[in-house]
Amino acid sequence: MTNAGNAGRPKTRVDRVCPRTWRAMRLLAVMLIGTYITSTDVFAQPDVDGKVLMAIFAHPDDEGLVGPILSRYAREGAEVILVTATDGREGTNDFTDYEAGDELAAIRRDELKCAASTLGVELIHLDYYDQFNSAEGYDGFIPQLRGVLRDIERIITERQPDAIVTFGPDGVSNHMDHQLVGSSVTQVVLSRDWEKTPALYYYGSPASTLPEEDRVLRGVQEKYLTVQIPYADEDGEKAVEALACHESQIPPEAIDRRRNRLEEQENIIHLRPFIAPTGHSNDLFDAATQ
Ligand SMILES: [Zn+2]
Repeated sequence: MTNAGNAGRPKTRVDRVCPRTWRAMRLLAVMLIGTYITSTDVFAQPDVDGKVLMAIFAHPDDEGLVGPILSRYAREGAEVILVTATDGREGTNDFTDYEAGDELAAIRRDELKCAASTLGVELIHLDYYDQFNSAEGYDGFIPQLRGVLRDIERIITERQPDAIVTFGPDGVSNHMDHQLVGSSVTQVVLSRDWEKTPALYYYGSPASTLPEEDRVLRGVQEKYLTVQIPYADEDGEKAVEALACHESQIPPEAIDRRRNRLEEQENIIHLRPFIAPTGHSNDLFDAATQ
């Protein structure tokens, strides 16, 4: 039977395929597309295979801030590395009897391993004391700070991350270790002309989500949080599961609160990109060329 509408049209390669084979090919194509859609990221992000994401934080459990996106990128095939600077030995609280010191540091080391394994990420756990010996004043603190700078430089040099996530100047809770690690990462990135300059991001708490009196402490205006990373429900669940590894720090009711908070965030982690200037200017008030 001839299709009258196609009469006289030169035969294409498709015309030469027999109808049964053509139907089978179409079916196969539909199946392949269906498999692709269900097996890849629902957010249609670019392929992350071969990309290296590094999260650099201060304490065991800080990684929980971005746990969902660590889980997501690891699940999608990126190489995800969590760098934690301190041993958390000062992490005492009201709901456990642990005292500050070696025993608590050992417990928190195991808890962090559990969390990293749950998120599916590689862990590099440095062994700086919680609070970087700051109680000992300048001579106790400065060698620690310089050690952190050199260690971060070494790790970035060795692993060449495409993207780094760390603390911004707010340090989320204003903890001095958070601020110190965030500023150290920034200093290391600024200090060298990297073969592959990593994209640097700061975790950000949208100011509008905080009580008015807290905004100056840790809020960031939404207009600066220009990078919003979505994640799937399963990544949110993994993040909560990973957080539960930190039994010495987070009581079960707080895990439930974190789960609720993640739900309120609508499966989005907000980040502020660090923007290095690209132009030059001789005018202090001429922001356009900077
Ligand atoms: Zn912390």
